[in-house]
Amino acid sequence: MEYNIAVVKGDGIGPEIVSEAMLVLDKVGEKFGHKFHFQEVLAGGCSIDKNGIPLTDETIEICKNADSVLLGAVGGPKWDDVPSAKRPEKALLGLRAALGLFVNLRPAQMHKALADACPIKPEIIGDGFDILVCRELTGDVYFGKHYRRESDKGWGETGADDMNYSVYEVERIGRRAFEMAMKRNKKVCSVDKANVLETSRVWRETMHRIKDEYPEVEYTDMYVDNCAMQLVRNPGQFDVIVTGNLFGDILSDEASMITGSIGMLPSASMNESGKGMYEPIHGSAPDIAGKGIANPIATILSCAMMLRYSFGLKDEADAIETAVENVLNAGHRTADIAAKGEKVLSTSEMGALIREQL
Ligand code: NAD
Repeated sequence: MEYNIAVVKGDGIGPEIVSEAMLVLDKVGEKFGHKFHFQEVLAGGCSIDKNGIPLTDETIEICKNADSVLLGAVGGPKWDDVPSAKRPEKALLGLRAALGLFVNLRPAQMHKALADACPIKPEIIGDGFDILVCRELTGDVYFGKHYRRESDKGWGETGADDMNYSVYEVERIGRRAFEMAMKRNKKVCSVDKANVLETSRVWRETMHRIKDEYPEVEYTDMYVDNCAMQLVRNPGQFDVIVTGNLFGDILSDEASMITGSIGMLPSASMNESGKGMYEPIHGSAPDIAGKGIANPIATILSCAMMLRYSFGLKDEADAIETAVENVLNAGHRTADIAAKGEKVLSTSEMGALIREQL
């Protein structure tokens, strides 16, 4: 099969890590008989430098026409002083909106070989954890009306933000979460605050209705405050966590941080037709940009997610994930995940070892 991938290398370490990921895709293509066509486009700071704006119509068009988008990271101190409407990060929001990306998937997996980096005690971690946080991206209080009014209690100026979820939006993300769980360990935990919020009561009722469509999946509800606690108390209990935009924003960061290694974590944002934008969760790391020492694994694992979720290439995705696991198990490390005194690999050496494993 042939696939067209729009590539946004972006700023900082973006070009270094994405180049390694593209070589990994080439290798997968060679091994499994696929052809990945890459079309590189500008977005973020590099687009501001060339075009005066972080995202052009041309970039949007190319990304819309591609089968999926691979993105490095955007932003950096060079563009810190540009007006907020033109900041590099606006490119991400623009791409999300243009592609209709409504679900963000963030796996938080503890690689056994990196257990020392995990900030949680070994007796809690046990055999590790493998969580997929499925966050709704286009609704909730972030996209409600934001306004100011007089306080009902006579306390003067008051900020207000409307929180909304329609049944349609919950069904859409809920079904996606169940479908993900069917490809994993068949457990869905839906997180809300239904003891307080009407939005959450609609969320919960809707989830209860659609869960019957997936009898093989074990379903639970959890309040968001409890979930925040359970993630550090017993992360191994979770498979897929599905939640709204606000709670997902916080919980996905928490879930990522308990793995202890930001350079290792991929993410995907997808639309209704299954097209996605795949990117590491970390930023452009300007402090190490250009030094050739960034960890390319998060971006390489983002490619595995692209193959699995947008292209349905399970074996190919497994092959990348196994190659990464093998390289880590053999003790190879980039600077961010190396213990004191351990030999440190460059970005390209790490990429080459992963390709060798393939
Ligand atoms: P960051 O994730 O770029 O860096 C945080 C720390 O982690 C730094 O010390 C960095 O060196 C390290 N790090 C990150 N990725 C690494 C990797 N692959 N290998 C080794 N070390 C790595 O976060 P920040 O410093 O807060 O942000 C820097 C810039 O990135 C800012 O302009 C920010 O707006 C932008 N940003 C972009 C995205 C995105 O494009 N999706 C996300 C977050 C931040």
